[in-house]
Amino acid sequence: MRILITGGAGFIGSHLSDRFLADGHSVVAIDSLITGSTQNINHLAGRPDFHFIRHNVSDYIYVDGSFDAVLHFASPASPSKIAPTGYLQLPIQTLKVGALGTLNALGVAKAKDAKFLLASTSEVYGDPLEHPQKESYWGRVDPVGPRSVYDEAKRFAEALTMAYYRKHGVDTRIVRIFNTFGPRMALNDGRVVPNFVGQALMQKPLTVYGDGSQTRSFCYVDDLVDGIARLLHSNEHDPVNIGNPREISILELASIINRISGNPAGTRLIAGGRTQDDPKQRRPDITKAQTLLGWEPKVSLEDGLQRAIDYYSKLA
Ligand code: UDP
Repeated sequence: MRILITGGAGFIGSHLSDRFLADGHSVVAIDSLITGSTQNINHLAGRPDFHFIRHNVSDYIYVDGSFDAVLHFASPASPSKIAPTGYLQLPIQTLKVGALGTLNALGVAKAKDAKFLLASTSEVYGDPLEHPQKESYWGRVDPVGPRSVYDEAKRFAEALTMAYYRKHGVDTRIVRIFNTFGPRMALNDGRVVPNFVGQALMQKPLTVYGDGSQTRSFCYVDDLVDGIARLLHSNEHDPVNIGNPREISILELASIINRISGNPAGTRLIAGGRTQDDPKQRRPDITKAQTLLGWEPKVSLEDGLQRAIDYYSKLA
């Protein structure tokens, strides 16, 4: 297959490029480099089966030749209040890439008669009242809250994808990605795993926002990429959750990272650290991925964190 990946120089996009190249496909990666980095794809430079185009997909996309699949992964994704690449600092770009970027990417898929796969998110469930979250849950999102720039952009992107499926017969897929971590997630991204690991490597206390009782479920990036590859090869058009169902509190995550990295500095609770509408709990129901795709995560949280720590310590 010849595959187009928007956000191809990003955290997940670059791992997808690696995976599809390893499977014998060729990849064209498009990225504006607003949040992505060429460092994530430097190792692919010069390969005849890989091509990088610097372009913002919120503007019209022109690509030569035929494609078998278009994977739309371009978007800021960090809810950090302070990180310059977080979506709260890039609210208009985030809405544009979810709306116009998805429209342009779907347009390419339609014109090339290619499959289309949308990177959606557990954020479509908002601060959920149903727990764990099944794909059938409609979510609880404040349409004018600060996180809405990401949540509503992705919800619109899902609606647009389904409209192209229903109206134009484009062969679409939607993956709802839960918290994912691993090498190439930028150290200054502001999300909890790179923040904590960066702090642990400097032997500083880990900044736990609020009282740390809020929960998340963390998936190692290789597991996520495997789920996405299986979804692409399936015939499912409705959204599918991909994530790790092991749910832990942020305080527990901090203590695991401190233990694995040997950081003696402990934690520091930051009372006003949580963003407005920061979900209190999040865990995917992955029954659909298990039954439909034969997928479930294989890498334990501890093993994944060790791999992330190894990666970040080499950067330092
Ligand atoms: N968080 C934290 N300390 C940090 C960064 C994040 O306690 O240094 C918390 C944050 O408030 C949230 C959880 O960790 O409750 C996960 O945040 P992240 O930014 O990774 O992504 P989210 O799951 O909210 O999209």
